[in-house]
Amino acid sequence: MKDNTSRERLEKIAREEGADLFGVADLTPAQDFVCNQGGDFLKDFPRAISIGVRLLDGIVDLLPRHNDPYVVRTYQFHVYGVVNPLLDRIAFKVAKEVQDDGYTAFPVPASQGINKKENLGVISHKLAANLASLGWIGKSCLLVTPEYGPRIRFVTVLTDAPLETGAPLSNRCGDCRACVDVCPVKAFTGLPFNSDEPREARFKAELCAKYIHERAGFPSGESSCGLCVYTCPHGKRRGESDR
Ligand code: SF4
Ligand code: SF4
Repeated sequence: MKDNTSRERLEKIAREEGADLFGVADLTPAQDFVCNQGGDFLKDFPRAISIGVRLLDGIVDLLPRHNDPYVVRTYQFHVYGVVNPLLDRIAFKVAKEVQDDGYTAFPVPASQGINKKENLGVISHKLAANLASLGWIGKSCLLVTPEYGPRIRFVTVLTDAPLETGAPLSNRCGDCRACVDVCPVKAFTGLPFNSDEPREARFKAELCAKYIHERAGFPSGESSCGLCVYTCPHGKRRGESDR
């Protein structure tokens, strides 16, 4: 076992592999919530390493044309065929380093649900990223980062390594309602995130799912929307206008 696990060394490995954001969360204040969702074995992991890879603006900026099957196919391939596998590869490399240091690491896949109905994974990547100081949960229910807005995907490595942790990032949505107003089916209520309220208070997921499902008539069967990702002023390129 090495003397310690250096947060800086792990961040360097992650960034060399393609990560844009890196942080460490203290999960202990949220332990009940985390275990209720993912199971009691998560008690063995008091910390979470959160790693983000930014989406390409050239692809996100096509989303106002999400009725075009080519746009949808390109976006889906970018997220699920390129960025998520990259995140899983980075998570594996970081987890391997933690293990080599003598600690336990459990990489949670970037996109693998344990509860299909509610679209939940072992742990919320958004929660880990928020507690790791990387972003806040916006009125869109997306994780919004100061650097890239919601144009980013995350993966999480759970660990018992004694890494220095960040503090939760506070909400910076302010008076903005861009995602609320752009949603074609008015799926967002406009309420800010409140951990004491259920997600349904802010997001009518069934309206979003129905809208996307109705577009699944393309030859390839894919469908998407993503206007809430595209329109957030955090991460939107200066001068970019709706097309
Ligand atoms: S993906 Fe589209 S339909 Fe779904 S919540 Fe976002 S803007 Fe609304
Ligand atoms: S579009 Fe505005 S309200 Fe919606 S998440 Fe982004 S900053 Fe928050």
